[in-house]
Amino acid sequence: MYPSPLLKLLRITLTYSELQPTHTIIDLLSKLKQNSFTIDDGWDLLQSTVTHFLELSAFFLQFLSWWNQENYVTDIMNLPSPPPPNVPNTAFRHKGNCPLCHMPQRIHTVLMVSGFVFCYQCILSEIRENKRCPVTHYPATEDDLVRLYIDT
Ligand SMILES: [Zn+2]
Repeated sequence: MYPSPLLKLLRITLTYSELQPTHTIIDLLSKLKQNSFTIDDGWDLLQSTVTHFLELSAFFLQFLSWWNQENYVTDIMNLPSPPPPNVPNTAFRHKGNCPLCHMPQRIHTVLMVSGFVFCYQCILSEIRENKRCPVTHYPATEDDLVRLYIDT
């Protein structure tokens, strides 16, 4: 008799509702033409009109939301680029010299994960052995090495 214990506790039974005939707007308009239009029909017409209006409004609001989201993305793309990050003190300490051998770099090679410039031979053996930047300890591979053509 009760579909769930909660409904049994509240003593609520489920029954079928009486079927109400639904009128389309075309039916109601034809009734209006035949002069058999009643107040109930007017109420049905009002209900269906309000329902359709709410559906269209919901769709329109969703469309406006989507449209504004698109414009928001393009606005972000047009923002000016942020200033470059501050230069750490360790970068000044190694300026002009390889952080590993402390001599002027022989084949300038930058490690992309940290931005520090080393001799190619120094950084290659370091990366192969420890797989990280010797200054910042960021994880790195041989693929992160880029040859700089400064003195060619
Ligand atoms: Zn070196």
